[in-house]
Amino acid sequence: MTIIMKTRLIIIISCLVLQHRLFFRAHICYNVGWPILSYVRDGQLGLDVMGSQTEQKLLPAQVDTVIVGNGPSALILSYILNGNIPYYNASHPHPDPILHQKLLQSPALLNVNVADLTAHFTASRLSYSTQALPINVLLDTLIRPLADTHPGEHRTCVEWRHEETKRVPHVVLGNTAHAGGQWADNPVSASWDIGTLSYAEMLSLPGYTFENHYYRINGRQPPDFHRPTRREVAGYLAIYPNMVNISDSVFTNVGVSGISRTIDGFHLAAPNIRCKHLVLASGIFANLIPPRPLLQPLAALHPSTSIRLTPLLIIGSGFTAADIIISTPPGRRIIHIFKWDPDEHPSPLKACHPRAYPEYASVYRQMKLAAKKALNIHDSATPLRLKKCNPFFAQRNWDNTYEGFPNTFIKDVAMRDNLAIITLEGSSGRTFDREVSSMEYVVGRRGSLRFLDTEINREVLGVDRQITGNSDMISGRTLRAKAEESLEVAPDVFIIGSLAGDSLIRFAFGGCIFAAHHIMERVGQISHQTTTEAGTIKIANGDITSKPLGMGIQTHSNNEYIMTNGHSDLGIDRKTRATSTDLEVRKVQVMA
Ligand SMILES: Cc1cc2nc3c(=O)[nH]c(=O)nc-3n(C[C@H](O)[C@H](O)[C@H](O)COP(=O)(O)OP(=O)(O)OC[C@H]3O[C@@H](n4cnc5c(N)ncnc54)[C@H](O)[C@@H]3O)c2cc1C
Repeated sequence: MTIIMKTRLIIIISCLVLQHRLFFRAHICYNVGWPILSYVRDGQLGLDVMGSQTEQKLLPAQVDTVIVGNGPSALILSYILNGNIPYYNASHPHPDPILHQKLLQSPALLNVNVADLTAHFTASRLSYSTQALPINVLLDTLIRPLADTHPGEHRTCVEWRHEETKRVPHVVLGNTAHAGGQWADNPVSASWDIGTLSYAEMLSLPGYTFENHYYRINGRQPPDFHRPTRREVAGYLAIYPNMVNISDSVFTNVGVSGISRTIDGFHLAAPNIRCKHLVLASGIFANLIPPRPLLQPLAALHPSTSIRLTPLLIIGSGFTAADIIISTPPGRRIIHIFKWDPDEHPSPLKACHPRAYPEYASVYRQMKLAAKKALNIHDSATPLRLKKCNPFFAQRNWDNTYEGFPNTFIKDVAMRDNLAIITLEGSSGRTFDREVSSMEYVVGRRGSLRFLDTEINREVLGVDRQITGNSDMISGRTLRAKAEESLEVAPDVFIIGSLAGDSLIRFAFGGCIFAAHHIMERVGQISHQTTTEAGTIKIANGDITSKPLGMGIQTHSNNEYIMTNGHSDLGIDRKTRATSTDLEVRKVQVMA
């Protein structure tokens, strides 16, 4: 055999061995019950087809800490409470020399003095988010230094060390079929294959990054500026607990209700369990804002195939409305009613650059055209030019299938068989009718704290909100003022994640560290002395005080937060960003 033939043979055998190992590994995963992504033919991922956790775990009757919700923030906190402790890694110094110097003195990040470490941020030449809570900004910049302005140039400054003695017994209880919170759920008919707003590196949890996951699934690194699909992120989060060994703490399909105080902690009526510390990670996206009574018969319509030629009515001006438009088959006609107030309350879609977010830019463009038409203003950009610069635009014949109505009111609804005739009133006062076969009402989502009893609800939300009965309409703004003072919103009750007002995954870490620090301190897992590579350093218990967070450098206006449903920090386009996230974020102002 020639050398060439021998080499070829070796390569073929290696490939066969590798293939066999991959196949074998996939089967091992399935047999131990790891969630595996599988796909149904029409491409709609129901997470119920994503494999299941076959292992049956029993909930303890009593545990130190219960985390309500199983979204990204709950998973990060569980990772920490499982004894994975963050430290500043001085061998990967942060590009901010002041921050670096300060952290050299106190590398234990569980004990960070937020006020001291972030004091210079406003004056710094480096860009720091001005919208998230300072503790979240701090952890974000340490985990992904200068990720917005110099992507990929700096390594993470955070090292996670496993310290068994710091483990705190806890459970993560979520009502979705898989870990992942709102990512495991899809309450609207939007496709699972739409790209996320964040780039891949902004979606990673500690210990097993999204990049690790992508590599494991695809055998290669994700491309630059990768916006994974919702399906990919759901798959990543579903498998995360197994990959970082925290699955014993994470429970799915568990709805929590009836939480009340006891003498020494809390009792959860469902599931029947007691705990000393309660962490609310229930998010702000679990429930769609319901339509008003006149529109409710429309929400109950289910179009049969025979009437699919009749338009779908979509009401909403934000990302979810756009997601539904994008997911609607190109031939299906759409009637889109949206709020249009570009100066005072622009849609968040306005901030989407056509290169980074071509699909959202296309929808915004159509909304703008419809608004101009309503005002009798002629548009100059030709469809041909648009087709060339935005391939998404070419996928649909917008002229024939999309009818947009800005600031239009539905005056009347008449049901007829499986269809409805709606009477619309435009901003000019003109009324006209349209026939529709179904409706997607997507004007926003809210969280709920109804699972707390009246007393805790009052402690957390305050007397006024309790009286007005708003525990079912929790937005990112609801608890923001409290969060700015302390993430411990009532004695031994902590809030983390989007519930605290920072909706992006990248800004969930700080709150988790705050909660973990306080819980570990109370169960005696954090001592006054911590040994680090740099020697033994003194850590004062009060470094993270009960009021560590401050107002932030600059916060959202109340209006902005409510109107964007917590999404005002989502419209980010790194490619077009000049200096910081906030230049873009500021553009993403108000929508309705
Ligand atoms: C459509 C959409 C797109 C988004 N895109 C991005 C993006 O690209 N990048 C990004 O960083 N963020 C994005 N977000 C923001 C989102 O808030 C975060 O990604 C993240 O999911 C927040 O995590 P969380 O831990 O706060 O809670 P969530 O993920 O909201 O999870 C909370 C979970 O708790 C459950 N729960 C509530 N009450 C109970 C109860 N009583 N019992 C049991 N379980 C309960 C809820 O059902 C929910 O599943 C997006 C949000 C939406 C809605």
